[in-house]
Amino acid sequence: MPKYSMISAPDFMPVNRLREIQNQKFINVFQRTYQNVPWYRELLAKNNVDPNSIRSLADISKLPFIKKTDLRDTYPNGMLATSMDKIVRYHASSGTTGKPIVVPYTREDLDVWAECVSRCLTAFGLDESDVLQVGYGYGLFTGGLGLHDGGQRRGCTIVPVSGGNTERHLMFFRDLKVTAIACTPSYFLHIIDVAQKIGFDWKETKLKFGIFGAEPWTEEMRQFIEAQTGIRAYDIYGLTEISGPGVGGECSCRAGVHIFEDHFYPEIVDPDTLQPLPDGESGELVFTTLDKIGMPVIRYRTRDITKIIAEPCPCGRTIRRIGRISHRSDDMMIIRGVNVFPSQVESVLLAVDPGLVNYQIYLSKNPDGLDAIEVKVELTREKFAELGDNVANLEKFRRQIAEKLKSTVGINFKTTLVEPDVIPRSQGKMQRIVDERNK
Ligand code: ADP
Ligand code: ZN
Repeated sequence: MPKYSMISAPDFMPVNRLREIQNQKFINVFQRTYQNVPWYRELLAKNNVDPNSIRSLADISKLPFIKKTDLRDTYPNGMLATSMDKIVRYHASSGTTGKPIVVPYTREDLDVWAECVSRCLTAFGLDESDVLQVGYGYGLFTGGLGLHDGGQRRGCTIVPVSGGNTERHLMFFRDLKVTAIACTPSYFLHIIDVAQKIGFDWKETKLKFGIFGAEPWTEEMRQFIEAQTGIRAYDIYGLTEISGPGVGGECSCRAGVHIFEDHFYPEIVDPDTLQPLPDGESGELVFTTLDKIGMPVIRYRTRDITKIIAEPCPCGRTIRRIGRISHRSDDMMIIRGVNVFPSQVESVLLAVDPGLVNYQIYLSKNPDGLDAIEVKVELTREKFAELGDNVANLEKFRRQIAEKLKSTVGINFKTTLVEPDVIPRSQGKMQRIVDERNK
């Protein structure tokens, strides 16, 4: 096993050296993609870009963007940039926002991916002594195998449970002396819930780390998870089109997600004008895969909304950070002219009562044709026992939530309280918005 310093060295590279590496890799990936992918040559021709004018990373802004729909339209292999003999695996996006996107990986691609996940784990504080239980789904989804290969690269002992079978998760936490769990934050909420029901004692475990990603989650949710279980919860970010989990991850400062920018070059653009935005301004995150062989993407629009934090991180890593992903542009609802996204609702609910973690947002049409928004909030068992048959107090609590939503988000939500165990639980990504407008 390489030593800690060797694994993490690229994270701490002098910035000049990092920019040099990015520059060289960018030219290489651009030329390879141009030569090997006819679709990309056509894209450049359509946009009147002369490939000879692309000489350094500074020229990247001359290039057109690649969108999610482009990857769907070229399904399955229209973006392949190498021969099929070199491809050793496929994954596909989970399709939360439409048809899946299929991504081919070469050995080198899997290697970079495992390296990045391993660098994330190092930044969280894991080492060879850790036992990492993987509760992300295995299969076409990148979560399971991503954490599996990266954890193995880090030298951890892997317990590949996958999603589901929650009581077995709890049993292994205790019996296999698991120190780290990786799964979606919403699945971990479900694990916490089942633990409470069966009287599971978190103190009987050695769990120290939670590695949560694949969907947005808030600071308030982090506090809830840590208070319930005594672990430290870390954010890991990624997407299939770029590699999978581990495009970036937090460090122990937990003040933004470091991007492994020696492999994935980030930009932020205005999602409407597509103009690059300066560091610190929020917009759509765009990535160029600097050394991907199977399916490189150049200026790929992620639809994730965040900003680049360029200030040095106290941890000493020179690779830049992004802010926590607050939402995807697809998840943003525009209700009577106000932009609303689920993480705002989550922050409000958890501020009213830290246990209000199970909620769902319903969109429908009023008889007048205007959009209506309802949030169904599940009472915790304690709250239900306290208020369950007291109509006046239930109504008071409901109104408290509705007023806080109105004052924070700026619109009226129909707010409905539901009994414990009514909101569906998720083993993977939770569907927070139910859109019934076209029914
Ligand atoms: P799909 O687009 O079908 O969900 P993926 O499974 O590849 O496909 O999911 C990648 C997406 O998941 C990202 O683009 C982002 O929207 C979301 N995501 C991943 N990690 C995080 C995270 N830590 N915080 C917020 N969102 C995340
Ligand atoms: Zn840091």
